[in-house]
Amino acid sequence: MKAKRSRYHKKMTLFLPLLLLLLGVVAELKATAEMVCSICDEPITQGQYVTLEEQVYHKTCYDDTPRCKICGFPVLDDYKEDGLHQKFHSHCYKKASVCALCDGVISSGPYVKTESGKVYHNHCFKSSSKCALCDLPLDSFYVNHNGKRYHEHCFQANVKCDICQAPLIGEYFIDLYERKFCKKHAHRKQCSICKFPRVKRKINDGRYLCKKCNQAAIFHKNIALHLLGQVKKDLQKLLGLSINQRIQLHLVDINELKRITAGRNTSMQGKFVRETKIITVKGIGSEIVEDKFKIYILYGLPEGLFRAVLAHELTHAWQALHCREAQSEELKEGTAELVSYLYLKSKGEVIWMKRIENNEVDLYRESFKRAYQTYKETGHDRFFKIIKSSYSF
Ligand SMILES: [Zn+2]
Ligand SMILES: [Zn+2]
Ligand SMILES: [Zn+2]
Ligand SMILES: [Zn+2]
Ligand SMILES: [Zn+2]
Ligand SMILES: [Zn+2]
Ligand SMILES: [Zn+2]
Repeated sequence: MKAKRSRYHKKMTLFLPLLLLLLGVVAELKATAEMVCSICDEPITQGQYVTLEEQVYHKTCYDDTPRCKICGFPVLDDYKEDGLHQKFHSHCYKKASVCALCDGVISSGPYVKTESGKVYHNHCFKSSSKCALCDLPLDSFYVNHNGKRYHEHCFQANVKCDICQAPLIGEYFIDLYERKFCKKHAHRKQCSICKFPRVKRKINDGRYLCKKCNQAAIFHKNIALHLLGQVKKDLQKLLGLSINQRIQLHLVDINELKRITAGRNTSMQGKFVRETKIITVKGIGSEIVEDKFKIYILYGLPEGLFRAVLAHELTHAWQALHCREAQSEELKEGTAELVSYLYLKSKGEVIWMKRIENNEVDLYRESFKRAYQTYKETGHDRFFKIIKSSYSF
C-alpha cells in the first residue's frame, strides 16, 4: 500500500511540518490528535489520503465529492449549482461570472463581455441566435415578428412601424402626424397632405388621402363658409385684424388651383385674388366700380389645415385693405404665414404649426422666420403698425 501513496501524500509530508509550526495551538492539537477527514469526519488511519492546505481527506471521500471549479476545494453542504449542474461553494459562486445564456459559471477559457456588462461563454455567444435589434444572444423569452427574433424588452422598447408593427431600425420615415414607418413602405401611394404611405381614398383630381386626413377633410361649401366666418372673426378678436369686406369663397380642385396660380407653386393650397374694375371717364377721372375679394381653396384639406390656409389668405385680404400696395413678396407671405401660425397657436394646432415652421418652399419658410423674429422683437401691436407702412422687412 505504501508504495501506492498518491502525490497528495507526498505534498503533505512536505507541508505538514511547516503548517504545524505556523498554526500554533491548532497545530499542537492536530499533532496530538489523529488526522480526521474533513469530509466524513472519521479518523484517517490507513490507506491513501489527500491534503489540501490545512484540510485532510480520505482519498475515496475526496474523489467522490464534487470540487468547486473556482477554488478547487470539495463542495460539501453550503453550495450553489449553476446552469450546467456544476456545484460551487456559495461564497465562491457569488464572485463568479455567470454566462448570460446557459447560466453556467465561466471558470476558465475565452469569454465574451458586452458593453452592458453581460458575459457569455465564447461558444455560447457564437452558437446563439441573436436579437435583430441589439445583436445580442436571445434568451428563452423572445418575440418572433415577421421572421425576425427580438428580445422581449428590445421589441417593447423600440419604436414600431405604424404599418407593419416591426421595430424601426436605422433609417425610417415620419409623416406630418409623426407616424413612423419602415423605408420599404415609402414607395407606395402617399397621402397628399401628410405623406403617410397607406391611403384610404382617391379624390377626383388624383390626390390621395390617408384615413386620418380623410376623416377631417372639408368637402362641403357650407362647412367651408362657416369656417371662413369663424376664422375671420377669430383674426379680429385674437390679433385685431379687421377685414370689413365681403369675401367670395371657392372650393377648387388641384387643377383649378394650378390654373389660378399659374402653376407658380405646386404645393399651394389656397389663393387670394382681388378683382377690381376701374372705369376712366374723360374729364372726371377714374373710378372703382367693382372690387371683388375672392379666396380659392383646395377641397379635401383636413380642417386644421383648411383653417390655416384660410387665415393665410384672409391676411392677404387684410393686406389689400390696410397695407401698402407695393409690399415685397417676402413681407406679404411672411406676415400671412405668421398670422396663420399665431391663429393655429391659439387653437393648439401643433401639427399645422410645424408645417409652417418646416414649409418645404424656401420663400414661405424663410419669410415666416423673418416675420416671427420681428414680431417677437417689436411686440404684437407695434408689429402690425409697422407692417401696414413697410415695403419689406
Ligand atoms: Zn472521509
Ligand atoms: Zn469554492
Ligand atoms: Zn454559456
Ligand atoms: Zn435585443
Ligand atoms: Zn413597416
Ligand atoms: Zn394624411
Ligand atoms: Zn400667400
